[in-house]
Amino acid sequence: MIPLLIECHTGQLVPYSFICQHLMDNPQQVWVGMDVNDGREVEKDWICEECLNNFESGDTLEEVISPICIDCVKILKSEEVI
Ligand SMILES: [Zn+2]
Ligand SMILES: [Zn+2]
Repeated sequence: MIPLLIECHTGQLVPYSFICQHLMDNPQQVWVGMDVNDGREVEKDWICEECLNNFESGDTLEEVISPICIDCVKILKSEEVI
């Protein structure tokens, strides 16, 4: 089982989403939401369009995604370009 919470930059235990490295490096792009069904209290994990293409052609995303606390996700995602 994966942990449902991580320790945030504030030191509190909070829910998290997985986000691909590319969105972290450059949040000013399209964010593709992936449904979460492992018990974490978040609606989506987020990847970029290129990762979506790779995922749909059968690649695993494990090497490019990292857990990010929901507060940091919110800040990053506010820069999303649609
Ligand atoms: Zn954080
Ligand atoms: Zn990506």
